[in-house]
Amino acid sequence: MTDIKTNLTYIKEQIINSATGCDRDHKTIMLIGVSKRKSAQIMTQGIDAGIENLGENYIQESMEKIDIIGRDKATWHFIGHLQSNKSKFAVRYFDYIHTVDTVKLAKEINKQAKKINKTQKILLQVNIGDEDSKSGSSIDTILDLAHSIADFEHISVKGLMCMPPYFTEPEHSRPYFKKLVTIKNQILETHIPNISMEHLSMGMSNDFKVAIEEGSTMIRVGTSIFGRR
Ligand SMILES: *Cc1c(COP(=O)(O)O)cnc(C)c1O
Repeated sequence: MTDIKTNLTYIKEQIINSATGCDRDHKTIMLIGVSKRKSAQIMTQGIDAGIENLGENYIQESMEKIDIIGRDKATWHFIGHLQSNKSKFAVRYFDYIHTVDTVKLAKEINKQAKKINKTQKILLQVNIGDEDSKSGSSIDTILDLAHSIADFEHISVKGLMCMPPYFTEPEHSRPYFKKLVTIKNQILETHIPNISMEHLSMGMSNDFKVAIEEGSTMIRVGTSIFGRR
């Protein structure tokens, strides 16, 4: 059986070590436990063990689980691909949506957030490895996307998210994380109003240490906390 409490203790130690190693305050790094395909019961064990942020990939599955667990028991992050027609649910259930990659999707999120008088926190997802199999704005269009979304009153852009190609060697992710930092700096230089770049959502079970060294503020860790899926 997966010992969530032990895993969590170990990961928190690794976060502190990585942060200390590059002169960062570990408190600036948010640990998001990724619970896709794990039961509400297991997620509750995670919350009891001290997980404050949970990440989910599928709308239907996550709504069922969040209803059981309780919306107020954690901060919820939507990290999967979001279809516009599911925006309504993402806005109602999630504190952050990490995967906004088109103006169309942002427009729908804005509309749904307005209906419930919410300002939806989002991140812009960048297809950092230019992979056909992955979602995310292309690097070429990310500045335009940021400009377009800045006008939406019920959306607050908090930063960028990426998922590099999968490598077994974590060091291979580093250039992609560096690239996301470069894009963040380009966006900051253009001084777009209403856009904050306080968060970089990057790093997963196998490469979060490298991500922290490169400036990640949100690491998304599934397998190393909850076990294999
Ligand atoms: C599943 C998933 C994760 C977690 O991956 P692990 O390798 O299990 O840590 C992180 N981010 C996204 C977008 C995911 O889909």
